[in-house]
Amino acid sequence: MSQKGYILVANIFGYTAFVKQTELEHAQSIVDDLLNTLIESFQPPLIFSKIEGDSIFAYTPENSFIKGQTVLEAIENLYCIFAVTKESMHRNTVCPCKACKAMTDLDLKLVLHYGTYSFTTINSQQDLIGTDVMAIRHLSKSPISDATGINGFAFITSDCVEALGIEDIAKSFKTYSENCEHIGIINGFVYDLNPVWEVTREQNKITVIPEDAWLVVDTFLPVPSALAWEYITEPSYRRLWLKASGITVDRNENGRVGIGNTYICAHGKYKINQVIVDWRPFDYLTVDTAMPLKGVQRSTTKLTKQDSGTKISWYFDRVTGLNSIHTFLLRLLFISMKGILTNRLKRGSETVLKMIEKEVRT
Ligand SMILES: [Zn+2]
Repeated sequence: MSQKGYILVANIFGYTAFVKQTELEHAQSIVDDLLNTLIESFQPPLIFSKIEGDSIFAYTPENSFIKGQTVLEAIENLYCIFAVTKESMHRNTVCPCKACKAMTDLDLKLVLHYGTYSFTTINSQQDLIGTDVMAIRHLSKSPISDATGINGFAFITSDCVEALGIEDIAKSFKTYSENCEHIGIINGFVYDLNPVWEVTREQNKITVIPEDAWLVVDTFLPVPSALAWEYITEPSYRRLWLKASGITVDRNENGRVGIGNTYICAHGKYKINQVIVDWRPFDYLTVDTAMPLKGVQRSTTKLTKQDSGTKISWYFDRVTGLNSIHTFLLRLLFISMKGILTNRLKRGSETVLKMIEKEVRT
């Protein structure tokens, strides 16, 4: 039976030259290590399908994500996992062989397409098939790097951009077209991923760690961390955890939410601002919540993958005011907040859970 959804192919830029021109033994094991690390990092809703040479095929049924930005973030994470693995392999080798020296030239190419696919079983191995699978296989071998000068990228087809509703984000990407045999011309966008890695590598982490927390509340959702992330960050769901009557969030110029944006939580006629100070998709979110007397409370929501779902831990720092008197008064005011916050988040997780159970997800 055929299914609609997203198909992803990941393969390595520079693979052929690397394996041919360097001592074969280490070249192949370097590539295998990189590919295996990527395969291990696939998590639902992104489902690993198969490996063909240096190409990894994965898919995700449509409606597995709430918003398009999450798919982009899943792709950015894959790229960063590749980059960090490559860097640490290079740093930790003392081998003087050509392959170990040249591995820094390898990069990751991703192609994401929206279309129809079905499954067949060959030698008890599941295989993805269909015209759109053929198209993406062709695209993954296209000379996109030669045309754009970008080696590490995600090529996202126009159909896919439209299905994800990320037209605003894609505006800043280079365009590329490919004539696929028997299929026709496929247009799309080339998202340069190297700058994403550069920023991620340089960014200082801002988190409240459990050892420093004033309050720790653990909750749980029986969904993969990419989905739990959406239930935490998407205003319509975030509202349920914080018991707000409504939440809005501003977006940056390309339509994305991230560091520097502000959640405005309405509790009746009161509005509380939460500024996003760190945003690490599927790992943690840190916000600074504005308090009375110009006080601020920092909190981190940390996601931990577990066998049956995602543990969601809320770490609240002590509230601080403009000066020591304000801080003293605020902390006094906050004594009763421990129980209130704990109850609110526990009840919030029950509400979200009920809603998940109601929603039919395929
Ligand atoms: Zn070597």
